[in-house]
Amino acid sequence: MRAEATEAELAAAGGLLTVDLDAVAANWRAVRAAAPGAEAAAVVKADAYGLGMAAVARRLAGEGCGSFFVADANEGATLRTLLPGIAIYVLNGLFPGTGALYRKAGLTPCLASMAELAEWRDEARCAGETLPAVLHFDTGINRLGMSAQDAAAIAEDGALSDGVDVRLIMSHLACADDAASPKNGEQLGRFRALLEALGPRFPGARASLANSPGVFLGPDYHFDLVRPGVGLYGGNPLSGRANPFRPAVTVEARVIALRTLTAGETVGYGAAWAAKGPARIAVLSAGYADGYFRALGRASAPESGAGSQEKGGQAHIAGYTVPVAGRVSMDMLALDVSAVPEGLIRRGDMAELIGPTISVDDVGLRAGTIGYEILTSLGRRYIRRYVSKAHGTRDEPGGQV
Ligand SMILES: *Cc1c(COP(=O)(O)O)cnc(C)c1O
Repeated sequence: MRAEATEAELAAAGGLLTVDLDAVAANWRAVRAAAPGAEAAAVVKADAYGLGMAAVARRLAGEGCGSFFVADANEGATLRTLLPGIAIYVLNGLFPGTGALYRKAGLTPCLASMAELAEWRDEARCAGETLPAVLHFDTGINRLGMSAQDAAAIAEDGALSDGVDVRLIMSHLACADDAASPKNGEQLGRFRALLEALGPRFPGARASLANSPGVFLGPDYHFDLVRPGVGLYGGNPLSGRANPFRPAVTVEARVIALRTLTAGETVGYGAAWAAKGPARIAVLSAGYADGYFRALGRASAPESGAGSQEKGGQAHIAGYTVPVAGRVSMDMLALDVSAVPEGLIRRGDMAELIGPTISVDDVGLRAGTIGYEILTSLGRRYIRRYVSKAHGTRDEPGGQV
């Protein structure tokens, strides 16, 4: 763990990233409440979607979460050094020649092919141990997972899983964010058929299908274990519906300059934005190097203004939500603060780029992407603060975790 940021470092920070660990914990408890019959695991891949795996996983383990999913074995090995007692599942499977690493770090691979199953079986034989595994089946996303034919073969021939303790049988939904999609029911039907075929061979195995949006498809989708990721971090997993989760991330950037423009003057590279009349601009110390996508820049609105409503970033400052003006630079961006009464914004103030007012999903929409990508792109230059009423605030200078 790094030392806390000093007052001087805080004063010198262009941007602050605050992670509300109480919100993460509350979001995990909300998943538990929504799927009361199932174990709630936590997906902490990609550094807990950019929030910081160490702080997030420690807090969730403290809340009682005992099962964590990562993408690869290196993430898993890092998590293992932090939390010796938890179950760690590796979603992307078993990479060639890595069996020993999984075994030594106590990682459970989500085996997604017969080849992976064979390698894990060999690892068990060589080690003279029974090794835990998840069997991952494809039910329609066509990304990772074994087929129904593979399931039939595994059910038929016990030698194929010799030395492998199948703890969990899982699949992954392609369209869970859209409750009306017929794909959900199709995948559910295929998953049930797989469980039926494999049940006699692995009577102790549990089942898992739902990611964050899958939790809200109802109890049919919960099975024994649910695997929420984005919802824990405050992203809305549901398309076109209200977010059942609390925001957990706030990004603020500092006002480093204020300027007044006359009609026709332009802002930023490419002179893409021009003042239509007298305008006031606030320049912030954050840009695309901080994960504030260049796609959030805003050219001058066409005269009609039609169709441009959802494009271009917004920030919240001094009680006002204001638009980005011009292109986003690497380390700076500009806001059109003409609508904010003069004198309310001073040099050194902070503007909210993501947080309680500007949702991560709205930023994603305006950048032409999704909240997931905004979270996992959060820059490393911010001073990070991990806030918790119960456990106090901890600040960390920017940089690699
Ligand atoms: C990333 C992932 C999850 C978590 O998905 P969210 O939509 O973030 O909840 C669950 N299962 C698998 C297989 C994943 O790859």
